[in-house]
Amino acid sequence: MEMDAARALLSVEEAQRRILATVKPLPVVELPLQEAFGCVLASDVTARYDIPTFPSSSMDGYAVRSVDLKGATGQQPVTLRKIGDAPIGHPPAESVGPGTAIWIATGAPVPDGADCIAPIEDCIEHGDLVSVLREFGQGSFVRPVGQDLRTGDIVVAAGRRLAGAELGVLSSAGYPAVPVHPRVRVAVLSTGDELIEPGATAAYGQIADVNSYTLWGNLAEAGAVPIRLGIVDDNEERLRAAIAEGLANADVFITSGGVSVGQRDVVKRILNDLGTIERYKVSMQPGAPQAFGMVEGKPFFGLPGNPVSVFVSYELFIRPALLHMMGHASITRPELTAVLEEDVAGPPDKARYSRVRVTGSDGAWRARPTGPPASHLLATVSRANGLAVIPPGTVVARAGDQVRVLLFRDRRLLDGEA
Ligand code: AMP
Ligand code: MG
Repeated sequence: MEMDAARALLSVEEAQRRILATVKPLPVVELPLQEAFGCVLASDVTARYDIPTFPSSSMDGYAVRSVDLKGATGQQPVTLRKIGDAPIGHPPAESVGPGTAIWIATGAPVPDGADCIAPIEDCIEHGDLVSVLREFGQGSFVRPVGQDLRTGDIVVAAGRRLAGAELGVLSSAGYPAVPVHPRVRVAVLSTGDELIEPGATAAYGQIADVNSYTLWGNLAEAGAVPIRLGIVDDNEERLRAAIAEGLANADVFITSGGVSVGQRDVVKRILNDLGTIERYKVSMQPGAPQAFGMVEGKPFFGLPGNPVSVFVSYELFIRPALLHMMGHASITRPELTAVLEEDVAGPPDKARYSRVRVTGSDGAWRARPTGPPASHLLATVSRANGLAVIPPGTVVARAGDQVRVLLFRDRRLLDGEA
């Protein structure tokens, strides 16, 4: 859709809706278990056999017949003849008959004829004989077939993000690879004549590139594959070349800077030729000018340059889109309601996202702003764990007011509480 950039003003929700209506989950691929880690399973995986597949011992001890142990006590043990060893990882060679016992290790298949295990702690060995000091019932210390999963059971359900436990159970069910939504590869480009690499000697007026590092970390946290393309100066030709090159290896493209109204806002100028990109303002603080669209069939986000705007825009617009592309059903951050500890002023017509530090406990959360609202103060984000949402129409949110807070990290991860 063509929009008049000067006039288009969208609410946060409308901008989010447009983006989510455009991005689609990436096509499903079959990935080996280790590569599938962190990805969302695309379809139910079912058990093709019972797990465990054979009855095995859960103790080191003797495979015996429970009937032979009737009446066994410490004073009057039952003495059996040891006739062999049941090896782990192999079928048993012998079977247990009346009055006999076979040594067995944890995990070894239970020999035919035996219906329980007498743990070694309850046995006394002497030569070829073993005395059992207690009775054991049928099935004692035997892991039955199919106790974990039966043929046809769902091993892992579609929609689950695969963690270690899932990889393990999929392996036990005999799946070396599974169908998943792959990680999204995201190219990140910083634009601006003033930018240098961190640690490089800054001439007066130069600053280190912040945005591509912020985005890199946040993308990695979301399970995407960040591709940092680095810095390009405010030059149309070089910008076009960098975008063309980066697009070849990415599913999504993010630029920061250059979408405002200045002479040197070159991203803005080349967007029209790139694809179906809309430029609009979002009625929010921070982070008003934005661009979004499809370039060569790939979502393209043009973010403003200010570091806090980048952080907030990523949280509100990019992260949910990427999670959707990676097949997640839940694409929003956890929320809570907290009591604001300081007044927050700002433009009353806009939604304000105020960096706060949430403390307290369930039912009594408190949110303290971590600094002034200006968009270049990124340390205020690194001290925060949430964004308090002050809805449009509020002139001043007052200390003591209840506010909705989006938590962008576990509050225990601040200040060494983890
Ligand atoms: P722009 O949107 O390009 O006009 O940039 C707005 C403000 O953000 C300017 O103060 C820029 O210096 C700053 N800025 C833009 N890109 C970056 C970046 N990658 N890292 C840090 N600051 C940036
Ligand atoms: Mg710039």
